[in-house]
Amino acid sequence: MAPRRALQEYRDKRDFDATPEPSGAEAAEPSGLARFVVQEHHATALHWDLRLEAEGVLWSWAVPKGIPVDPKHNHLAVRTEDHPLQYLDFSGDIPDGNYGAGQMTIWDRGTYELHKQTRREVVITLHGQRVSGRYALFATKGKNWMIHRMDAPADPDRGDPPADLRPMLATLGVLPKPPSGWAFEVKWDGIRALATVQGGRLHLASRNGRDLSSRYPELRALGLQLGSTEAVLDGEVVAFDPDGRPSFQLLQRRMHVTSESAQRRFSQEVPATYVVFDLLWLDGHSLVDLPYRQRRQQLEALGLNGPAWRTPPAAFDDPTGFLEFVQQAGLEGLVAKRADSPYEIGRRSTAWRKIKLQHRQEFVVGGWSPGKGNRSGRIGALLIGYYDQPGGSLRYAGKVGTGFSDAELARLERVLKPLVQPESPFDSGPVPRDATFVRPELVVEVRYTEWTDDGRIRHPAYLGTRDDKVASEIGREGPSFDR
Ligand code: MN
Repeated sequence: MAPRRALQEYRDKRDFDATPEPSGAEAAEPSGLARFVVQEHHATALHWDLRLEAEGVLWSWAVPKGIPVDPKHNHLAVRTEDHPLQYLDFSGDIPDGNYGAGQMTIWDRGTYELHKQTRREVVITLHGQRVSGRYALFATKGKNWMIHRMDAPADPDRGDPPADLRPMLATLGVLPKPPSGWAFEVKWDGIRALATVQGGRLHLASRNGRDLSSRYPELRALGLQLGSTEAVLDGEVVAFDPDGRPSFQLLQRRMHVTSESAQRRFSQEVPATYVVFDLLWLDGHSLVDLPYRQRRQQLEALGLNGPAWRTPPAAFDDPTGFLEFVQQAGLEGLVAKRADSPYEIGRRSTAWRKIKLQHRQEFVVGGWSPGKGNRSGRIGALLIGYYDQPGGSLRYAGKVGTGFSDAELARLERVLKPLVQPESPFDSGPVPRDATFVRPELVVEVRYTEWTDDGRIRHPAYLGTRDDKVASEIGREGPSFDR
């Protein structure tokens, strides 16, 4: 198992200044032509296998995070059994039920120089296509070794993706005229999320930085598809209804699920899809200063389409086809993005416009009015409002009494009852006299036809609650104070 154990023992017993026996060291030096391979192994847990041709076999280590590119980050390397030389060329699927079942691809190969070897340390220089440089492998405990890059980083400008990235936001607007120089996309009706993939592991964060990674287990395979490619993606988590339309109401069923077993079950019942539209970071480098058109090209080159993720095309310079599609499909609207615009982290920008073909926005719940008939004794309608400015006065916008299922109504009662307060949180408007008031904390999404002149919405319908928005920041949508 340990490299050269027999030879080490041989050496330990001899003083080569005193005996004519060969030390064996020369024979062990592979004269600069020994080969290595790194295989990407999609087994139960993704890892990379480093194998060095030596002593007629392949010394092997399984490296869960891959070969480190920076001397600052040592990676665990678990010593595994020696493999036959034929393994240098092996790629393929190891069938289920076998040891190491899963897909294995060749990530890199080349030659290496051996500089040092003891039972507990191997120093090499790799000459591959993707990895080159001097590395030390050293044993720590039992089969556990570490691999350390001894050379300067292969790419000195390489950095780690920032942990606190926030998505660029769009401003409510109209179709740009002329449309040349703009890109058009569907406005997806879901949850905005940034996905960071490193070493095949996916971390998903909401627009306000909340960790969503465990909520959508079906998206983990996206990390596996990216493998060793490090990327930060921007996109929207969407649930599609049986007609293929994005349904925020369906996605709602995923938003309040906390237990891991329920999350797994819901990933089958209400599968989510991550719709990817931007690429902010790739292999150690930020792309945010590149124009959108170039970020899109690099994103599309990744070919991210799989069972639970896709990269739909953007239409550059002409929205006609998209407009027809969005209207026929009854989708919410379009987003227009300036093709030459950089990615403005965490900012709402006029370089991105959302163009709504249906009206909907978030409101703050300030109370409810009692139900009648078969809803008597329960919530009849939610009293909703919006702030005139962030943290300012809460204005009454009307009541929404349709769009609830019985289960959703029961859930809303559970959420709202602890928030009951005697006084009205609204600063204006003819609030119903039989209202029960609550602290204005719950944010709901509502569809409506239009605003009246006195600041009320017409024909509202409830769509769901939002736990990714802060109540005090909910205003009336418009170019000046937009969500
Ligand atoms: Mn393996």
